[in-house]
Amino acid sequence: MNTDLEYKYRINAGAAVELVPYRVAVLLTDYQPFCMYHAETPIHAVRKTHLCPACTADLTKAFRLIADNWTGLQDGLARAGRAASSERVGGSTDPSIGPLPINTDVSDAMGLARSAVWSTVGQLIQDRPDLRLPEDHSTDVLADWIARRHIDYLASHPAREHLAAVFATVADAARAVQHQAYQCAPVEVEMKHSHCHQFTDDPAGGRTPCPGQLVGILLPSGRQVVECSADPLHRIPADAWFQIQARRAPRPARTMNTLKRKYLRRT
Ligand SMILES: [Zn+2]
Ligand SMILES: [Zn+2]
Repeated sequence: MNTDLEYKYRINAGAAVELVPYRVAVLLTDYQPFCMYHAETPIHAVRKTHLCPACTADLTKAFRLIADNWTGLQDGLARAGRAASSERVGGSTDPSIGPLPINTDVSDAMGLARSAVWSTVGQLIQDRPDLRLPEDHSTDVLADWIARRHIDYLASHPAREHLAAVFATVADAARAVQHQAYQCAPVEVEMKHSHCHQFTDDPAGGRTPCPGQLVGILLPSGRQVVECSADPLHRIPADAWFQIQARRAPRPARTMNTLKRKYLRRT
């Protein structure tokens, strides 16, 4: 274990103040019986933590929100087909590619989340240098890792001010992420006469018409797709769907022309 990395906590030992690593500090921590929030109406804390069950759940939920909405935000980052800001550029460092137009509100929310998650992980690895981080250091993977495995570590942290700082920044970031995810959510457009034309293979070996209804979806990237309510694999780009519809629709003039071409050539 690389002990140089270990953060040291100040612990009062009689008249003296001692500096001890996390693993010692956590054993010496004097936990209060009540949750560190709700000052007016004290609520019992979970044993050997600073938080009540509701606050523990809220802290978990904040990390969860960041993990669960990350992909949606990444989709919403590109602001295709809309006025783009050239002030901020995307991740590319290749000058020949030039600035990538991105949605700065989304990138701000992602920035908040990234720094909240990373500062939590940063302290965690100084407290527990023995810990192995997930291979993938993406913000969503780390947020998920904390939500699943390290909420107890945060809730029982020897420095209450660290827990308070993490709670505040992660809750802020989660709010921003959730707000932007809502803004970025695909817009669904209901379509008339839109039953799915695909077939589903039933176990008996037959093919039955899919019972699903089609919904037009405008993705945050500006791309349009048509998706089936029964089977997401019955998804096609909207322009292809409209072409199919145009071909299906009875168009007398077009049909006549086709027939004409077909038969006139032969005579
Ligand atoms: Zn509480
Ligand atoms: Zn279908």
